Amino acid sequence: MTQIDRRHLLGLAAAGGLAGLLPKAARAQASAAPVLVRGSTVLTMVPGDDEPRRADLLVRDGRIAQIAPTIAAPAGADVIDGTGCVTMPGFVDAHTHGAITQMRGLFGATQETRFFQRVSRLQAQYRPEDTYLGMHLGAVESVASGITTVADFFDGVRDRDHALAGLRALRDAPVRGRLYYGQKSKTTADPIDLAHLEALQAELPSMSDGGRLSLGIAWRLPPNLDDEAAWTVKMREVEAGRRLGLPVQVHVSGQGPAMFDALIRRRLLFPALAVIHGSDARPDQLAALNESGASLVLTPLSEQRVGFGLTRYDRYRGVRRLGLGIDGIALAGTADMFTTLRVLSLVETGGARDETAVEPRRLLALATRGGAEALGLGDEIGSLTIGRRADLQMIDLSALNLVGDDGGDPSALLVHSARPGNVALVMVGGRIVKRDFELLGIDLGKLVQDARASIRGVLDRAK
Ligand SMILES: [Zn+2]
Repeated sequence: MTQIDRRHLLGLAAAGGLAGLLPKAARAQASAAPVLVRGSTVLTMVPGDDEPRRADLLVRDGRIAQIAPTIAAPAGADVIDGTGCVTMPGFVDAHTHGAITQMRGLFGATQETRFFQRVSRLQAQYRPEDTYLGMHLGAVESVASGITTVADFFDGVRDRDHALAGLRALRDAPVRGRLYYGQKSKTTADPIDLAHLEALQAELPSMSDGGRLSLGIAWRLPPNLDDEAAWTVKMREVEAGRRLGLPVQVHVSGQGPAMFDALIRRRLLFPALAVIHGSDARPDQLAALNESGASLVLTPLSEQRVGFGLTRYDRYRGVRRLGLGIDGIALAGTADMFTTLRVLSLVETGGARDETAVEPRRLLALATRGGAEALGLGDEIGSLTIGRRADLQMIDLSALNLVGDDGGDPSALLVHSARPGNVALVMVGGRIVKRDFELLGIDLGKLVQDARASIRGVLDRAK
């Protein structure tokens, strides 16, 4: 396939800009009718006001308009019967790698199929359409699972077409998406294409769908922490982030405490930075993180799968801005935030030998409000607060695996028993994107078929 064909296939503007990327979804969202959810159990996740209560909830103009015992339906409202359901904020996946979603199942715990090596080898064979399919597939599965925001760390930007394909993949998925623009591959010290990132940032307002899409920097520390030439390149990237007002994420894992120490020594912790993993972080390192205003994102499923150690919540309990991430469905195995919370809870109670070591509602807050705060979006999403964006999910408690008392606090039920298939309705920015357990406007059969063809092609080319 020629470059021109591929551009055509992806619908990208010939000039490499965003003219072809204007959102289709924007108009539908702006004109959405008010939505009234009647009689569900509402978990607001508002700090200090998060007691579950039976209430009506009104969404208007894409935002939470009212929560009250009874609300009269406005003219033209879409009224949803919430009896037997929990309504809560959508989950925030504060760190993921969508582009490799179709590699799921390829990491078999053998030397030949180790995660990092295999991803690097396969991603080197990616075409822009593979990036598009992986990121789109990942975002779609996430939304189906009750995740309304994804922070996608993209460090397979082989060229500008791949970056555009990634943005388009998030635009075409019914999700609040942030693309963190990174380097060509995980393992090299290539510089990020800052000129392209800056051009995308300038054009983003025209396609961000009222703030649904945003950009950030997928930053990596030099593979050799003593390589001053590499640091010069890396410093230029973080300075570009500051100049452009872009949030930054960085992995801190795999070299013991040295990476965290390098960030502290070089004064590279700042509020727009999210540190990912921080496995084995010492208390003094976490204190420096808090002091700087930077945030931390834990990814329990992936951290344990690749052997970063047990993710012990107790170690991070004092982190002020703490969120959770899936860290790539291909590695985590699933876009399942319920399982993520269950694992975090079980590892903590088992490790502490204390059944009461962690409260279920605290875990739900981490997966919603915590993630929003970790991404700097705490004023917009993450809780059902009047005036904030209506990113929410409804979980139907009538399913076989959730049968129990539906009168009290559902937090323990959600953490220990729920699964993505129990998510009956998802709303992003006031627009219903999943209803009656079905994603709206998405041809899942075609998506699955295309993603399978993509990974078959990648594996063939890698032979
Ligand atoms: Zn990661």
